[in-house]
Amino acid sequence: MMTYDVKLQKHDNVAEGTMAFHFEKPSGFTFKPGQALDVILPGLEAGDAQNARHTFSIVSAPAQSDLVIATRMRDSVFKNALKALPAGSVVKLEGPFGSLTLHNNRARAAVFIAGGIGITPFMSILKQAGNDKLPQSLTLLYANRRPEDAAFLAELQQLEQQNAHFRLIGVMAQMEKSSMPWKGETGLIDGDLIKRAIAGLQSPIYYLVGPPAMVEAMRTTLNQIGVDDDDIRTEEFYGY
Ligand SMILES: Cc1cc2nc3c(=O)[nH]c(=O)nc-3n(C[C@H](O)[C@H](O)[C@H](O)COP(=O)(O)OP(=O)(O)OC[C@H]3O[C@@H](n4cnc5c(N)ncnc54)[C@H](O)[C@@H]3O)c2cc1C
Repeated sequence: MMTYDVKLQKHDNVAEGTMAFHFEKPSGFTFKPGQALDVILPGLEAGDAQNARHTFSIVSAPAQSDLVIATRMRDSVFKNALKALPAGSVVKLEGPFGSLTLHNNRARAAVFIAGGIGITPFMSILKQAGNDKLPQSLTLLYANRRPEDAAFLAELQQLEQQNAHFRLIGVMAQMEKSSMPWKGETGLIDGDLIKRAIAGLQSPIYYLVGPPAMVEAMRTTLNQIGVDDDDIRTEEFYGY
């Protein structure tokens, strides 16, 4: 695995409490949508090594010229240091790695289930699928508390408009605390919702990404509606 010195280009807010960080893409850096990388902040390396390095899924598609990650901004040593970096600062990126990539059998549908920031690897997969005009059925169940908290929601809605094979099902758990309009699903993702979402899909493969507790709960729900573990792929975001 390679380590690269790259410049931070910019950061921006992509939802309440969630920021995206855009880095230069080093020449020769190739990755598959769904893969991750480590961000190492040189300013922290002299201290606790765990604080200097964090893993993030790549949000951008390989077709894009920059490398983008996104994260919930918490009051941690790493995230405070990342947020404080001015544009032009140099950080280290190590990667790519990970095998949460889209299956090759295009006849089988993909069902992505994301909780909150677990959306990141699916963004890369969905953007690249749109770019490649992939004729593969892709369904995303995207759970958040409110639309305000849902990173990349507008971009996902736009991707759905542009790709007839992609269906977005947003699910909001706490609309009573929202001041935004929402016409989609409310509550939690449960077996009934998943059964409605997969009606008519051909032999789906399921992808679960999010905090470990959410991934485990979703796996149990899928098993309860008869989905075999062989058809479930997961990525757990340790640290949440
Ligand atoms: C493959 C993968 C992809 C990820 N993608 C994203 C992403 O796209 N966006 C995002 O926000 N987060 C992602 N994460 C989680 C991310 O690496 C951080 O752990 C998380 O953001 C919490 O960091 P923090 O600075 O808020 O908390 P911290 O205070 O730094 O960490 C909280 C606790 O978790 C522990 N911890 C941190 N990282 C790990 C780890 N990798 N394994 C085991 N324990 C750990 C720490 O030791 C600490 O006890 C991903 C993790 C993995 C493994």
